[in-house]
Amino acid sequence: MPFRHFGLETPIFRAIQKAGYEKPTPVQTAAIPKILQGHDVTGIAQTGTGKTAAFVLPILNQLAITQEQGRLNGTKVLILAPTRELAVQITDNIRDYGRYLTFRIATVYGGVDEAAQIRALRKGAHIVVATPGRLMDLTERHRIDFSTLAVLVLDEADRMLHMGFLPDIETIIGQLPKRRQTLMFSATLSKEIESLARRFQYQPKTVQI
Ligand code: AMP
Repeated sequence: MPFRHFGLETPIFRAIQKAGYEKPTPVQTAAIPKILQGHDVTGIAQTGTGKTAAFVLPILNQLAITQEQGRLNGTKVLILAPTRELAVQITDNIRDYGRYLTFRIATVYGGVDEAAQIRALRKGAHIVVATPGRLMDLTERHRIDFSTLAVLVLDEADRMLHMGFLPDIETIIGQLPKRRQTLMFSATLSKEIESLARRFQYQPKTVQI
């Protein structure tokens, strides 16, 4: 199935062409239509399968629509990832696939000075990509307004659990609107992941490739 069957907005479709992708990967074919329909999705997929684009493309598509309607105000998307490397990689992907859109993004991770990250958040980022520990630190000391949030992504959720981030994730989710779309990606489907899905997702569709 070609990318054009998803009916993505022109700026997103053009970015895919620019990236040189000929057709969606299996996880993209399975997940993108469900995410576009607004479902919560639990995706079981390893790194290298194209899972990042599987959630970034539909998220940017919704951002493009919101922008066309003149309703792009406040933080719309929060993506939690286990490591700085992954957070930076996701941010690079978002900039790449979002090259024909205008929006602000903040990337928040530990081990570096936080002043620039706080400034990026204060300016009003439409998308925040963060590791749970640093985001917790910042939200404890600075008010970050998540009242407009529409989508939460837990990427590599199994790794975040193994790294002991569950308490931080619980606290962060507690600050988010109850009505939102929650997407979760994990390399494996374990009891712990099923429990996360039950607690934080609404009637999730499982995509396993
Ligand atoms: P990921 O699994 O998200 O880490 O992606 C692995 C690699 O696949 C990245 O370098 C992407 O640029 C690339 N990629 C993602 N989707 C496609 C696609 N549909 N066709 C070709 N390459 C892709």
